[in-house]
Amino acid sequence: MKFLLVEDEEFNLIVLEEMIKISYPDAKIVLTNNGQEAYEMLQTNSFDLILSDINMPIMDGYALIKKIKNELLLTTPTVAVTAFAIQGDKEKLLMSGFDYYISKPIDMAELHKVLKVSLLD
Ligand SMILES: [Mg+2]
Repeated sequence: MKFLLVEDEEFNLIVLEEMIKISYPDAKIVLTNNGQEAYEMLQTNSFDLILSDINMPIMDGYALIKKIKNELLLTTPTVAVTAFAIQGDKEKLLMSGFDYYISKPIDMAELHKVLKVSLLD
């Protein structure tokens, strides 16, 4: 199992990695700090699941998902991980191409439910 994590805040990145390791201790987890780094990683590597923050410098989550879908033409399941709390943002995220959505602070049970479902895609 190979995961790509995209998150500009180092603390959040490590927390997410540790949370994933609980359910998938043998997973290969690649950490990137923004959409641009993730985009470059995706040009030469394939993953089973991509989890991405939305608000990031250089390239945000919306720009990244656009490239994943329209340019790289990947069908890899994608999960938006974001602090946006307003209900309308969830629809916006799903409309933009993300398959799933997890809100921050991340609830462990919710994360593992989403991981399980998205990896069956
Ligand atoms: Mg951020």
